[in-house]
Amino acid sequence: MNSKAKVVIIGGGFGGLFTALELAGHADVTLLSDEPRFTFRPLLYEYLSGEVEEWHIAPTYLELIDERIHLVLGRVTDVDLAAKKVTLADDKGSLDYDVLVVAVGGDTNYAAVEGAQEHSLPFRGIDDADRLRQRMTEALDHIPPDMPPQDVRDALTFAVVGGGASGVELSTKMADLLNDAFTRRALKGEPRVLVIEMGDKVVPGMGPDIREHVERALHLSRVEVHTLTRVVRVGESSVTIEHANTQSEISTAAVVWVGGVRVNPLVEKLQVEKTRNGLIKVRPTMQILAHDNVFALGDIAFVDDVEPALAGTAQLAFQESSLAARNVKALLAGEELQTKHFEELGEAVSLGTERAALLTGGKAFGGPLARQARFALYTSRLPTWHHRLRVSASWFFGGTAPRPLLPLGFQR
Ligand SMILES: Cc1cc2nc3c(=O)[nH]c(=O)nc-3n(C[C@H](O)[C@H](O)[C@H](O)COP(=O)(O)OP(=O)(O)OC[C@H]3O[C@@H](n4cnc5c(N)ncnc54)[C@H](O)[C@@H]3O)c2cc1C
Repeated sequence: MNSKAKVVIIGGGFGGLFTALELAGHADVTLLSDEPRFTFRPLLYEYLSGEVEEWHIAPTYLELIDERIHLVLGRVTDVDLAAKKVTLADDKGSLDYDVLVVAVGGDTNYAAVEGAQEHSLPFRGIDDADRLRQRMTEALDHIPPDMPPQDVRDALTFAVVGGGASGVELSTKMADLLNDAFTRRALKGEPRVLVIEMGDKVVPGMGPDIREHVERALHLSRVEVHTLTRVVRVGESSVTIEHANTQSEISTAAVVWVGGVRVNPLVEKLQVEKTRNGLIKVRPTMQILAHDNVFALGDIAFVDDVEPALAGTAQLAFQESSLAARNVKALLAGEELQTKHFEELGEAVSLGTERAALLTGGKAFGGPLARQARFALYTSRLPTWHHRLRVSASWFFGGTAPRPLLPLGFQR
């Protein structure tokens, strides 16, 4: 084993961080990240609702890694594959590598819809969740108790664009939080949370068993679902939708865009072989096609035999990280590289603040028990045993009750 070989990993998400943790001690490992924290995105909805805290799902890298991994905080702007060098933004210089692992993940895809990037909120990280929670609280704070129900409904309309798992998880969470705030603040009428989906059904990638739980939860949380509906424009406080060739404009307190993922801009710049969607084509060993010493994984990589439902998921990036780490070690040791069939480990969907749905071993179940099971499942997926232990103790002893949307100034 060549422990002096320089392995540079760009991106500290599910792909990059877990690769770094497995490689620690086996080479001179550097983790490059444009954020100081790892984000466990599947629990971001619970962070929005206050069921979990920032330190549970977004620990700093320094809490997770030891001196066997060098951490460099900065944004990589260029990769020179010929010179084996990566360059960082803001005059932070460049780094040479022997082996490179690219795991920079995706970005929100606004699909060139007019006004979408300027006026809608993305939902990918802690800051996005903080901004959305603040927007919901401010909108509630502007409602006087005697406002007529129809005006209340107009002032408290939130649109979630995209009816995939993210749209469903987010809209049910938002609706439960807003409905709870209505009761606490004794407001008249009700809030309105819309999901806007181009296709003919929500969660199109999921089977009918789990969809049944999803549709029931949307109904219980009073989320309004608009299928076969396209967003044509987003304004400062409105969204224009089109259904059956008819357009209508709806006033909104916020539009949240979870309608798709595109590859990271760094990948767009990389001159390597890609699919039509811009994903980097990788071999079954996770190496990119023309460079044996460069690996790509996670949301930016396309592996041939992966089930479509697995693509773009944390569970795939996680499984790929283990193969990539094993193969980096093999490459450095001059051994044969391995391949692996990636498995679907089941599905878990958060559905509001009281329930969830799980598909495991081909069986779907939902309700409050599924919510607990989802927490247990995700505890086991958090990085490092030390962090897992701290978080599970906190959830066990402190509970995971949501934090209500109290008026600003009354919040802890
Ligand atoms: C809200 C939300 C909920 C989700 N829920 C689920 C779920 O329940 N189950 C599931 O399986 N999947 C879920 N996903 C998808 C899952 O999070 C991704 O598939 C997974 O994170 C992909 O891992 P990755 O390593 O490719 O990218 P990421 O985890 O996104 O990590 C990429 C990292 O690279 C860093 N980076 C980017 N560009 C640069 C640069 N130029 N220089 C340095 N660093 C850079 C980023 O800051 C980030 O830390 C969810 C995604 C979101 C947004």
